Amino acid sequence: MSDISLEDIASLCKRRGFIFQGSEIYGGLSGTWDYGPLGVQLKRNIMQLWWKMFVDDREDMYGVDAAILMNQKVWQASGHTETFTDPLVECSNCKGRFRADKIDTSKCPTCGQKGTFGKPRQFNMMFRTFVGPAQGDEITIGEPIVDNEHPTEKARPDLSGRKGFTYEESSVSYLRPETAQGIFTNFKNVVDSFYPDLPFGLAQQGKAFRNEISPRDFIFRSREFEQMEIEYFVDPEKWEEAFEAWRKSVWEWTRALGLPDEKVHELEVPEDDRAHYSKRTIDFEFDFPIGREELLGLAYRTDFDLSNIQRASGKSMEYRLKDGSKSFVPHVIEPSFGLERAVMAVLSAAYTEDELNGEKRVYLKLPKHLAPVKVAVSPLLKNKPELVVKAREVFAALKKEFGNAMWDDNGNIGKRYRRQDEIGTPYCVTIDFQTLEDDTVTVRDRDTAEQKRIGIAEISSALA
Ligand code: ATP
Repeated sequence: MSDISLEDIASLCKRRGFIFQGSEIYGGLSGTWDYGPLGVQLKRNIMQLWWKMFVDDREDMYGVDAAILMNQKVWQASGHTETFTDPLVECSNCKGRFRADKIDTSKCPTCGQKGTFGKPRQFNMMFRTFVGPAQGDEITIGEPIVDNEHPTEKARPDLSGRKGFTYEESSVSYLRPETAQGIFTNFKNVVDSFYPDLPFGLAQQGKAFRNEISPRDFIFRSREFEQMEIEYFVDPEKWEEAFEAWRKSVWEWTRALGLPDEKVHELEVPEDDRAHYSKRTIDFEFDFPIGREELLGLAYRTDFDLSNIQRASGKSMEYRLKDGSKSFVPHVIEPSFGLERAVMAVLSAAYTEDELNGEKRVYLKLPKHLAPVKVAVSPLLKNKPELVVKAREVFAALKKEFGNAMWDDNGNIGKRYRRQDEIGTPYCVTIDFQTLEDDTVTVRDRDTAEQKRIGIAEISSALA
């Protein structure tokens, strides 16, 4: 376990423009987060790395990008409308609401009273909405209850004055609680249009929404988040080898994120805790500053999803092997990655405190390929036009080549280095008077703070 606190990371993220509380200016909206200039770049770098590793670099993977709003039948067939629930308890004293499986229910974590919880009820986490103008006008439910004898007391639950509205059942839809169903519902489209060889996988990245009872721990448990999911379709007889191969690929992924192996743990989920259709699930956990928690999941989902779709839609989900030998509903291995948890793990692993020239330094030791700013370029002095002109030239060339280069001429050079260290910029290039004479610059390394003098023409290979 690390001694870095989540507060340290959250405070750096806010201070330096990575992540802000959602709707902060109006007091926030619980469970939502906004990404600033550096946060969005970090997030995109992670998403692009994932897409490169799992789609572009492979021959058996295809991308999809399904709509967030889907026909309600999707969620009926998948079982989400019935069972996508968490157990909710309410404290009769302070009215606090909690997820029963995440707290000790003998006493209320907010007010400390004992025995104030009743039986948990199942709370569906999907955000419901209405598609089209099928939502009626607002109405008032019930008549006001008038109790002449006890005008100030409420003798029974009072619905008077509660607002509601009418709607057509067929207009109901949901913000998707996972990206996976958008993949399954396109299985047949991809087979009909591409007819890929089995085994093959479909990959999708995108938003998912869950009305979590208790969003918590910074971006770890949010109500709006992003998933990167793969459904890998296999011959039922070959699921075990595919599962093993994906297990290895997950480790390649955690290493590519720069997460140390000793902080990543496989949790073989016991049968009683697995979804009923899953024959095997491994949760990959990470030692976050909040403790060991789920980073991502790897599950064997049998033919549960495709068979449900086949039943509910009446359309065949069978795949015929190209040699014609057999036809069957493929089984599925599902690696399911949460983007926010990847961001939080990367930041936790990168957050470093050390001492430089006798002073405490905080810096993000991000893998170079994930750093939101690859290189910062500075003129040694910003009031010397000849230095600025030369530095602008170097900056323009690096920006053109790498995109995420940053111009930084604020404060003195020592402060600039500290600021770049704090956002994880691997290299700082400084243009000084010697540059004007011999076309060399200094390149400073974030991790060692060493400075090297190299020719302008060599900068890009030095950064690679
Ligand atoms: P948990 O048990 O933590 O609620 P889960 O097992 O329900 O998670 P899955 O349904 O397997 O999660 O979702 C796959 C991945 O999506 C998780 O491993 C996680 O990375 C991410 N994820 C799920 N819920 C959230 C959330 N509320 N906020 C951020 N990421 C999430």
